[in-house]
Amino acid sequence: MSDLIRRDPRTEWIARNRLHPLHAELTAPAGDVRGPTGLLRKNPHGVGFIGPNGLKRIDRLAIQLGESGPQGGQRRGAKAAVEVQLPLVTVESPDFYVVAVLDMVGGRLTGHDKDVLGQGHKLVAATEGQGAVVAVTFGDSKEEAFDKAGVDRLIQFTGEQYEGYSPEQRVTALQAVERELDPEYWLFPDSIAGGQELGCRLAARLGERPATQAWQVDAFTSLCRGGSQRIDISRETPRLLLLGEECADQIDETRHEATVIELAGVPGTLARIEDCGAVDVDPSQVPLGEAEFILSAGNGIHDWDQFHQAADTLRATEGASRVAVDDGFMPRHRQVGATGTWVTARVYVAVGISGAIQHMQGIGQCDKVVAINSDAGCDMVKRADLSVIGDSQQILAELIRLVESRQQGGAENAA
Ligand SMILES: Cc1cc2nc3c(=O)[nH]c(=O)nc-3n(C[C@H](O)[C@H](O)[C@H](O)COP(=O)(O)OP(=O)(O)OC[C@H]3O[C@@H](n4cnc5c(N)ncnc54)[C@H](O)[C@@H]3O)c2cc1C
Repeated sequence: MSDLIRRDPRTEWIARNRLHPLHAELTAPAGDVRGPTGLLRKNPHGVGFIGPNGLKRIDRLAIQLGESGPQGGQRRGAKAAVEVQLPLVTVESPDFYVVAVLDMVGGRLTGHDKDVLGQGHKLVAATEGQGAVVAVTFGDSKEEAFDKAGVDRLIQFTGEQYEGYSPEQRVTALQAVERELDPEYWLFPDSIAGGQELGCRLAARLGERPATQAWQVDAFTSLCRGGSQRIDISRETPRLLLLGEECADQIDETRHEATVIELAGVPGTLARIEDCGAVDVDPSQVPLGEAEFILSAGNGIHDWDQFHQAADTLRATEGASRVAVDDGFMPRHRQVGATGTWVTARVYVAVGISGAIQHMQGIGQCDKVVAINSDAGCDMVKRADLSVIGDSQQILAELIRLVESRQQGGAENAA
């Protein structure tokens, strides 16, 4: 498994994007290398950079690499580039706060959370005075990149009272934030992962009318989706906003302090809802539109028993391309794409699927896409966050072996 070549689309994108702060670091020439005979060799291809029109250019003034004069060597420029860090934005004593309550599915920031933080900064920029974006999270967090997502201040409510489904306690905590910070705006992701419910509950507690499914928001007007997504409703921007996905650009060119704020004295509440824990469901019974983890098969699958075994072992819901369905290997209700189901999985694994536009339309909302394909240049590999290039049969066999050995290891450890 470790010998397989994996592409990193983000790195490739940064290497193409001359304006990205990390571009110089990635395109810095390799410099001198020692050849097989032991001689020191210069890499002539390492000189220069790819210009915006795609042509290679030699940077005689070393501007691209951050050098000041023509004498500046490429290697010194490369060293300077290695030290490139995103600029740190600090807000010493904020005049006001914009509070974003995040879903943090699986303890990590979702794409929707990052959109909401981006919207927070848009509102800060549009409001007079110095504002700070405060992120509020519940439960244990595995996230390490709050700073790069635009979090100026961070409030984390942890402890068993916030575990599982605990909306009453969470709203009580948000009321404590309201008392302490008196936010200029409250932002929630309008999602089924918790944001929508918390936003509505807080709005009811505060007696304020929120904007829901807001997707274009400035300090004065908010455009909200209504009528089953068919119409846009324009209204004055309220203090409490439930935001749709892609409401704003995510923060990716600055770092923020993510200073932790401790809130003392959040009272406990008498819970009227008892969380009996998650129910183990059979992934094969989960409708495609609701599945969180999908293993999808295309024309590049040659052993269908093995594919079903892989889905079973990984506990993934099965999906398919139209070719796999038309050929009779998968039922019609498993087809993903324009004429099938539009899926919103957190992880979508496309095995032997080329990435035709009709299929891509169906996976546009997926968080992370993994491509398993023998063709490194196919569209699915270009779209994927992680690609494994090779024969699907071998890769699935290795995947099954790894998961099974991990499960056995886990069982032995537990015994
Ligand atoms: C009106 C219309 C609507 C459509 N709607 C949909 C839709 O909703 N959903 C949909 O999916 N399609 C739809 N299609 C079809 C779509 O255009 C493509 O034909 C289809 O998605 C291709 O399926 P595929 O990627 O599985 O097959 P192919 O295009 O044949 O691709 C197979 C892939 O498998 C790889 N491969 C082959 N062998 C191996 C191996 N051993 N190991 C690893 N990889 C391997 C190949 O490199 C290739 O990338 C529609 C088409 C039309 C005209």
